[in-house]
Amino acid sequence: MAETTHFGSRDVPLGDKQAMVDDVFRSVARRYDLMNDLMSFGLHRAWKDALVTALDPPKSRPFSHLDIAGGTGDIAFRVIEAGGNQTRASVCDINADMLAVGRERAAAQGLGDAVTFIEANAEALPFAERNFDAVTIAFGIRNVPRIDAALAEAFRVLKIGGKFVCLEFSAVDVPGLDRLYDLYSFNVIPALGRMVAGDADAYRYLVESIRRFPSPQAFAGMMKAAGFARVSHQLLTGGIVALHCGWRL
Ligand code: SAM
Repeated sequence: MAETTHFGSRDVPLGDKQAMVDDVFRSVARRYDLMNDLMSFGLHRAWKDALVTALDPPKSRPFSHLDIAGGTGDIAFRVIEAGGNQTRASVCDINADMLAVGRERAAAQGLGDAVTFIEANAEALPFAERNFDAVTIAFGIRNVPRIDAALAEAFRVLKIGGKFVCLEFSAVDVPGLDRLYDLYSFNVIPALGRMVAGDADAYRYLVESIRRFPSPQAFAGMMKAAGFARVSHQLLTGGIVALHCGWRL
C-alpha cells in the first residue's frame, strides 16, 4: 500500500503532499507577509527575532547562513542585520513565487549580494556537505512531506560546530488560552485568509497542519536521530511556538 502522510487534517499519499503545499504558497505568496502580520498581531516578528537571538550571528568574522523554506526572506534579512558585514545568507525554498517576493524585498532593502535566493527542495539540498556555519528553518518544516529527509539534509550541509535552529508552531499549554487559540485559529484565520489573500482553504490547511505537527519532545527525538547534538527547545508565547536548537559536533 502507498505510504501516506497528512495534508492539514486529511491523510494523503506521501507523493501528493508537496504539490498540494506548493499550490497553497503559490496562491498566497503576494499576500503572505501581510497575512503573517494580521494573523499573529505582529507576533511572528518577535518569534523570528528570538530565532536570530538564539543563532547569535558573529559581528566580526565571515558567517554563512542557510535559511531553508525561507520564503520571502524574513529570517535571512534579520540574520544579515544582526551579523557583521561578512555575513552571507542563502534563502532556499521550493516555491518560485515566494522567492520572487523575497528577491523584490531584498532589492528594495539594498541587500545586494549579502543574500542569495535558491529554488530547491529541503529534502534534497543542492549544496556541498559541511557548507554553512548555521542552518535555520522557520515555519517551514511542517510543510515538508519527509521531515526526516529535511533534517538529514540540514545536518549534512552544516559545518562541524555549526548550529541548527528551527522555529515551528507547537501546542498551547496554558489552560483557557488553548480554547481561545482554537476558536481563533479555526474561525478567524480562514476568514481572514479569504478576505486578504482570497484563499480560505490555504489558511485552513496552515491551521490544521499545526495540529498535526509532532510535539516538541517528539521533534527533539527526530533531530537527535538526524545526528544533532545538545538538542534543546524553548516554548514561546504559552506554547504557540517552539524554538528548537541543535549542533553538529
Ligand atoms: N520561513 C518563512 C517565514 O517564516 O516567513 C516562510 C514560511 S512558509 C509558512 C513555509 C515555506 O515552506 C513556504 O515558502 C513553502 O514554499 C516552503 N516549503 C514547503 N515545502 C518545502 C520543501 N519541500 N522544500 C523547501 N521549501 C518548502
